Amino acid sequence: MTVLTTTDDAIARLRGVLGDRLLTPGDAGYDQARLPWNLVTDQHPLAVALPHTDDEVAAIVREAAASSLHVAAQSTGHGAGPLRGVDLSQTVLVSLRALRGVTVDADARTAVAQGGAVWHDVLAASAPHGLTALHGSAGDVSVVGYALNGGVSFYGRAHGLAVNAVRSVRVVTADGALVTASAEQNPELFWALRGGSGAFGVVVAIEVDLLPYADVFAGLMLWDGSHATEVARAWAAWTTGVPESVTTSLRIMHFPPLPELPPFISGRSVVAIDGAILETDAAAAAVLAPLRSLQPEMDTFARIPAADLTAVHLDPPEAVAGGIGSCDADRPRRCPRRRVRRGGLRRTADDQ
Ligand SMILES: Cc1cc2nc3c(=O)[nH]c(=O)nc-3n(C[C@H](O)[C@H](O)[C@H](O)COP(=O)(O)OP(=O)(O)OC[C@H]3O[C@@H](n4cnc5c(N)ncnc54)[C@H](O)[C@@H]3O)c2cc1C
Repeated sequence: MTVLTTTDDAIARLRGVLGDRLLTPGDAGYDQARLPWNLVTDQHPLAVALPHTDDEVAAIVREAAASSLHVAAQSTGHGAGPLRGVDLSQTVLVSLRALRGVTVDADARTAVAQGGAVWHDVLAASAPHGLTALHGSAGDVSVVGYALNGGVSFYGRAHGLAVNAVRSVRVVTADGALVTASAEQNPELFWALRGGSGAFGVVVAIEVDLLPYADVFAGLMLWDGSHATEVARAWAAWTTGVPESVTTSLRIMHFPPLPELPPFISGRSVVAIDGAILETDAAAAAVLAPLRSLQPEMDTFARIPAADLTAVHLDPPEAVAGGIGSCDADRPRRCPRRRVRRGGLRRTADDQ
């Protein structure tokens, strides 16, 4: 027998699970809770669910299914682009933002991150053990959203995609069951999740391999945009000869003349090369010599704590619309950028 429920009934059932952590339009906090990191997507779901436990996630999925509602999982909203313009009036947005715990097994060199944990959380937990992870350029991207969608990092040429470092996933499937997917358990679901992420359930935990690096040789070089052709050609030729221990990207960026931007980029076009080199200082310097001979006006390449690698690419430190954000002129390494061209291995923010 099919039981038809009204939207009000459905909301009441969902509220029965989460109480005031189930937010609907008009509720205080709804507008804050519905906003993704990428503010270009002005999403208006039927409700935002803010679970604090795996069981709450499972119960929300079950209640939503029983009321024929859609469920969309979101950890940070960095990848909210596909929801832009989508009718979410029958969708419960399950925000994993409260599920940020991370446990590190230093001997096994693995971390288990909760469904909403971001790379900063993993790095904070793994750095004391001299370990790091296959994170991307931004530390506030979620582990689940990044790793299950591929995950290209500055360790990528040496260690591969993050999706291949996923050992197991705890996921709430569409029927509300909480299951483990790994090479041994539910292997077909594991196969599908690695690339399908939110399409196959709400992930409440993910286990990933860690890397044995306490520090790394990394940084950014910057030239005026007028040198773009020369630098891009030199970089392209250079990448064909460097070892797999070297992963870099090249971007050409056009910054508007905003007073909050530091003078060295405000109103300018610049070309930047950044990345990491898994070599000794001397070997890394030798690898970089051809790029340094192009006389960059800024060169921050040096040995840094591995956790600081998330600052090298100058990703926006907070929510933005597209690729533009605020900027602290005293901390230019934290300034936003707008990538205007695909560079090296990396996708541009405008692609996300
Ligand atoms: C500033 C910036 C820098 C980036 N840098 C890199 C980079 O260096 N390398 C790279 O490969 N990519 C990079 N990306 C792309 C980024 O990895 C993807 O957009 C990723 O999907 C974002 O994951 P999220 O969970 O933070 O975002 P969300 O928008 O929350 O989620 C993205 C997708 O993952 C799903 N998802 C998230 N959490 C869960 C969950 N718990 N259960 C089920 N599904 C879930 C969502 O349903 C959605 O489909 C970058 C993006 C931005 C905006």
